[in-house]
Amino acid sequence: MSQKRPTIIAGNWKMHKTIEEGKQFLSELIESVREVGHQVYLAVPFTAIQPLSELASNSNIVIGAQNMNDASEGAFTGEIAGRMLTEAGARFVLLGHSERRYIFGEGSGFVNRKVKRAFADRLQPIVCVGETKHEREQGIAEEVLKNQLLNSLEGLTSEQMESAIVAYEPVWAIGTGLTATSKEAEEMHHFCRRLIAEKWGEATAEKVPILYGGSVKPENTRELLKQPNIDGVLVGGASLGFESFLQIVNYQNTVCR
Ligand code: PEP
Repeated sequence: MSQKRPTIIAGNWKMHKTIEEGKQFLSELIESVREVGHQVYLAVPFTAIQPLSELASNSNIVIGAQNMNDASEGAFTGEIAGRMLTEAGARFVLLGHSERRYIFGEGSGFVNRKVKRAFADRLQPIVCVGETKHEREQGIAEEVLKNQLLNSLEGLTSEQMESAIVAYEPVWAIGTGLTATSKEAEEMHHFCRRLIAEKWGEATAEKVPILYGGSVKPENTRELLKQPNIDGVLVGGASLGFESFLQIVNYQNTVCR
């Protein structure tokens, strides 16, 4: 099943790394991953998009952004438009990351408008969904995922859906060192794929890569990626260190614990 979908290893640098720090990291990474068969994405700070996209041209590393606004321009102090990101060289954008949802209060309706704007601006959206610890303990994790996923992706055509990426990131696992077990993650990925199949059809659902995010480390990547519905990982903390990210990218050779 998953052979039909690309494996994607994505790093999310959040508010880390200056342009110079990013360039140094990327120059080494480009050399180290030339022979890697899967795709490597890096969501970098806005200021680093242009220089890092230039550096990554002719490599198998894809540079993208961590957020954007849903408008194409306007009086939105401090915001950034998708077309500005595209012009700077971004090829994808993270949308609905839990830090945007919970720290900045962004709801799925807003995320949905951003997703549509991203397509209009030729950016591939990586749409993040995930339940909190409290929601999991209350037994409503699936209901939360269903609402986030369907509302964030509402109105997309099958063609758009097939070029989107979904990231399942349980909020309780982000930056906490707690990882969902591969079995727990697989159950939720399977659930997300069923939701996509019900709405857009089986053939479309089989094409959408679903990434897992939440304390991914070199030690757990291979086990996670063995699961049939886990097509890649979205890595925060462990994408900041060159060695740890490289080991995740080379997960086939990394020892599982
Ligand atoms: C993230 O920010 O998307 C993330 C998964 O972070 P971490 O790997 O640090 O948990």
